Amino acid sequence: MKIILLGAPGAGKGTQAQQLNAGFGIPIISTGNIIRENIDKGTKLGLAAKAYMESGDLVPDNMVIDLIKSRLSKKDCEKGFILDGFPRTLSQAIALDDMQVPIDMTVYIDVSEETILKRMSGRRVCVKCGFTYHVTSNPSAKKGICENCGAALIVRDDDKPETVVERLRVFHEKTAPVKEYYEKTGRLVMVDGGGTVDKTNALVMAAIEAKKL
Ligand code: AMP
Repeated sequence: MKIILLGAPGAGKGTQAQQLNAGFGIPIISTGNIIRENIDKGTKLGLAAKAYMESGDLVPDNMVIDLIKSRLSKKDCEKGFILDGFPRTLSQAIALDDMQVPIDMTVYIDVSEETILKRMSGRRVCVKCGFTYHVTSNPSAKKGICENCGAALIVRDDDKPETVVERLRVFHEKTAPVKEYYEKTGRLVMVDGGGTVDKTNALVMAAIEAKKL
């Protein structure tokens, strides 16, 4: 199963990706997590990407496309994968099609801006594996510690309110055409992501079942 999760920052793509990963055992490919790892390790890509990420802007297409090309060629992607945070621009969506990786479906997780702003302030992320939690709606069973790998949970720098507003602006400007692209080519399924994690997951699962994936 090759699936793309689309939606605004804070719509719940990461959380739904985790649910699908647990259910289907296919890897989550999160460009945001890969970029953050590169920043932490101080790689060339990380150094080049840092300022874009910190300001809430997108990292240039060529960098992200190269990164995805190399990640999708790895053996663990053969049976399927969940793309979280890619594609985010029309050029990235076209580049993905050019890679001849047939995507089964694109799920757009639809959430109001008001809900997103509330969610982002409570979001906590694992410093090591990137798993995401929310202080009230999806807390870790081990307070302040990641259930998946035991590392500390933190507030991401780019989840600060002023950066979130910029990320939402960039989303409307650059990622809205991606939604249109998949809509026009009949590959988009809309899911209401305004409810609980479980409710959204049930809707995502229903969409997958309807496609007989
Ligand atoms: P995320 O963790 O998906 O919210 O991504 C965090 C940040 O990483 C974004 O605000 C961008 O700066 C960068 N980023 C992640 N994915 C992409 C992408 N597909 N294209 C460009 N920048 C990206």
